[in-house]
Amino acid sequence: MTIRELDETYVAGTYRRFPVEIVSGKGSVVCDADGKTYIDMGSGIAVTSFGIADEVWQAAVTAQLARVQHTSNLYYTAPCAELAALLCRKTGMKKVFFSNSGAEANECAIKAARKYAAETKGPDSYTVVTLKNSFHGRTLTTLAATGQEKFHSLFQPLTPGFLHVEAGDAAALENALSEHKVAAVLIECIQGEGGVLPLSEEYAAAIARLTKEKDVLLLVDEVQTGNGRTGTLYSYMQYGLTPDIVSTAKGLAGGLPLGATLLGEKVQNVLGPGDHGSTFGGNPVCAAAALSVLSRLDDAFLSEVRRKGGLLAGALRDAPGIESVTGRGLMLGLKTVRPAGEVVTACRENGVLCLTAKDKVRLLPALNIPDDLLLRAADVIKAACAP
Ligand code: PLP
Repeated sequence: MTIRELDETYVAGTYRRFPVEIVSGKGSVVCDADGKTYIDMGSGIAVTSFGIADEVWQAAVTAQLARVQHTSNLYYTAPCAELAALLCRKTGMKKVFFSNSGAEANECAIKAARKYAAETKGPDSYTVVTLKNSFHGRTLTTLAATGQEKFHSLFQPLTPGFLHVEAGDAAALENALSEHKVAAVLIECIQGEGGVLPLSEEYAAAIARLTKEKDVLLLVDEVQTGNGRTGTLYSYMQYGLTPDIVSTAKGLAGGLPLGATLLGEKVQNVLGPGDHGSTFGGNPVCAAAALSVLSRLDDAFLSEVRRKGGLLAGALRDAPGIESVTGRGLMLGLKTVRPAGEVVTACRENGVLCLTAKDKVRLLPALNIPDDLLLRAADVIKAACAP
């Protein structure tokens, strides 16, 4: 059997794969089994922050692999402790829980918020308000948090205690917080899977005001927007928000599975021994990878991400067949006249790998993609969009 046949026979059919088998790569160029090369404008859905086989990242990972690949959370390891300290130093948060994915990072955020609310307001203050069109993960609880009905219908009953309000409607949020006993509001500053839709500054300010007034925790999901993707370390930093809990994953370890839930002042001690855990959480190889990624995301690098984002958006904005460009930094969504799926197919045939998000073409290249590749990819995308 070919790899494609083996996969289609034996791998659970949850993914609609593109007809490409990736076998190797370097930086922002990947190579398929037929030897065809592509400019990678998706970076594994915002994961390979420094591209494929980045040498600094690889050295950090292989050095840790040569020492110890796993212990358990019964013992201390340096990468885990140092990564938690670095995350706290860079964000002002106080403690970190490590897991393996974005969904788990959100799961922990929700557990921490519910426990805090139960302890401070009473056990019936468990409701978590999220936004319509959001995406927070695939576990039953994070599906319940996800404000898109299409993900819910086949998996009832989901975890109870979630309410979804229209993004941008401050009055709807105020009503929800007044009428229900709410533990937390959970948001993405830029809805990624929902179509690369940034919240407005005014709405973000209303969220900050209302969560404070109503004494409700603010949770920000930085799974897709985090770790430099939008041109600041975390996207909430551009909105002037002060979250109580931040969840992140994807690009954090640059291509190895790692989720992190950052706990702020109020909730720093809410999780005690036995309240939560994960066998692989804080795995030393993943943590060493993340230390390497995070320590390179300094101000100069982040300003380069913003510049590259501006370069890409500028090259695409107003091109024939492109109606709008949304997003920040290197997280961009294109509303195209042609259906997004057709654009992505045409790009792939012409050597550029892109993504979709709902009806948008979504671009999430590696944060260090060279300008010449970015502009070459932009030319292919423009040609694919032209009506
Ligand atoms: N939250 C957001 C905003 C996401 O974009 C995603 C994945 O796309 C998740 C959570 C879930 O992350 P994971 O697939 O790592 O569980």
